[in-house]
Amino acid sequence: MAQVVLQDIVKSYGSLYAVNHVSLTVDDGEFVALVGPSGCGKTTTLNLVAGLLPMTDGDIVIGDRIVTDLDPKDRDIAMVFQNYALYPNKTVYKNLAFPLQMRKLPKDEIDQKVRAAAKVLDIVPLLERRPRELSGGQQQRVALGRALVRDPRVFLMDEPLSNLDAKLRVQMRTEIKRFHQDLNATIIYVTHDQLEAVTMADKMAVMNKGFLQQYDTPKNVFDNPVNTFVASFIGSPAMSLVPLEVVQRGDQAVLTNEAGWELPLSAMNTRKALKATTNKVVLGARHSTIKLHKSETVGAVPARVYTVEPTGDITFVQAFVGEAVVIVSLDPTVIVRPDEDVWLEFDQERMHLFDGETTMALS
Ligand code: ATP
Repeated sequence: MAQVVLQDIVKSYGSLYAVNHVSLTVDDGEFVALVGPSGCGKTTTLNLVAGLLPMTDGDIVIGDRIVTDLDPKDRDIAMVFQNYALYPNKTVYKNLAFPLQMRKLPKDEIDQKVRAAAKVLDIVPLLERRPRELSGGQQQRVALGRALVRDPRVFLMDEPLSNLDAKLRVQMRTEIKRFHQDLNATIIYVTHDQLEAVTMADKMAVMNKGFLQQYDTPKNVFDNPVNTFVASFIGSPAMSLVPLEVVQRGDQAVLTNEAGWELPLSAMNTRKALKATTNKVVLGARHSTIKLHKSETVGAVPARVYTVEPTGDITFVQAFVGEAVVIVSLDPTVIVRPDEDVWLEFDQERMHLFDGETTMALS
């Protein structure tokens, strides 16, 4: 397997930058997920690595070779697509063998590689079937097998699970993760599903509007989002973001909004809040770090319940703080009703503060 380096890569269509000066290194054997909303440039980035699109600027290095000017077939990569792209009239065996026949490998070497891949993916009993005789999950495994027999240096996968139903997706998630661990494969994996990325990847590259926003382990991205975009994209439900003003009271900063309440900040949060470029900040909090009180409480801010969503072992409550919606999780034994006045207490150790102007995390 091999390391992949994206060096300041750019893909523009006229004035639209589908990929805008993205640099990152995927280490040998690492599983990296490219995530972001529709149109953020994930597929374009993957296609640039594959060599399926001409690049406007920058370089791509796979292993110790600059591959920028090489054809896809010379890059030593294998792609797995959303639609599997299997040959409908060929058996599974022939689907797997085909890329090797194209390379003119000897027959017994092809047979040995096909059977080895089929064993890894647990599709030996399916080798004589045709794709239409397979379930979606089995077809997905054949598509992985076809990538595997080629013995590539890098696997590139574009939303490979998005055609499967929810249950099978979860199951195949585990299988792809296993595939990665067993082969120690370098994988670049595009998904718009942040949960898929968080559960499978060693690192995630979060993109927005062609720009790389953050590149780190799922845990670090979740715990320390670099800006409000990443904070709102990663995590389900998303982190609540409340635009507020900072006012200094002696040594302490307090947060306030147009309703006039004041939330005194801890020493650490005071230090962060006073670094904002203006008096505008955004308070970020995940649902599990907010306590809901049914009566006025010191250190808690007033809110009005909007919706209550029981999900079984947790109830999610959406409440308005000013114009911002805050999501809180509650034990289902606590009963709250829409339009009820409540007070929300944010855990000062676990709250996030972002600059209201630049949207960047204050640290
Ligand atoms: P999705 O999750 O919807 O597939 P994506 O993150 O993979 O989205 P890309 O397909 O990489 O996004 O597209 C990035 C941007 O480039 C989008 O704004 C898209 O409209 C634009 N784009 C892609 N291909 C072309 C093209 N051939 N001509 C012009 N614009 C394009």
